[in-house]
Amino acid sequence: MRPTEDHYRHKGLRKKLVQGIQSKGISDERVLDAILEVPRHYFLDSAFDELAYEDRAFPIGEGQTISQPYTVAYQSQLLELKPFMKVLEIGTGSAYQAVVLAEMGVQVYTIERQKKLFEANKKFDLLKKYPTIKFFYGDGYEGLPTYAPFDRVLITAAAPEVPQKLIDQLKPGGMMVLPLGSGDIQQMMRLTKLENGALKEEVFDHFSFVPMIVGKK
Ligand code: SAH
Repeated sequence: MRPTEDHYRHKGLRKKLVQGIQSKGISDERVLDAILEVPRHYFLDSAFDELAYEDRAFPIGEGQTISQPYTVAYQSQLLELKPFMKVLEIGTGSAYQAVVLAEMGVQVYTIERQKKLFEANKKFDLLKKYPTIKFFYGDGYEGLPTYAPFDRVLITAAAPEVPQKLIDQLKPGGMMVLPLGSGDIQQMMRLTKLENGALKEEVFDHFSFVPMIVGKK
């Protein structure tokens, strides 16, 4: 069962979580504000009530995880979001990252390849508060050509290589943030599509994500 109440105690735990994330180097106030606002315990079973505010990943079923808050904050900061941007997220999972992005005032298009996780989000009441998030069941490698182009693409699963179709769906000047690599550890990358179509590559820290897998399940 999901919890349905957000107490002062939870808000206090979130404050501590935000301080922890800040001390690890996240400085974008809009990101920190969003983490402070979003009741992460709602995204997990009520058994995780307090644990939800530890800076850790947790299982969400189907062998998948809700990302660590620090990782969510790190990717969100790299996106350099501006209000009303169109953001494509690959790997909805628990929808926590999608809600953090929505709190930052952008329009979110998020794709999940696992039917069970996609269906679970349909029954998740908190998400009704976020009409700016659109949920899709499909293979993230295909992106969403109908809704392209996007200002930003965020991949929240480990991509063995840069998915070309997603680069094609970026606006000129747009950015993609992804953990790149096929092993247990990946390199966080930010790719900027320059006006002439060339890609500028920036390399950041190492992380460990579940793999981005081809096809639907
Ligand atoms: N953003 C999520 C993180 C979930 S973990 C959160 O905040 O909880 C990564 C997710 O990516 C998993 O749910 C996994 O099923 C999904 N995934 C993996 N490959 C995918 C693909 N090709 N297309 C869409 N989703 C994919």
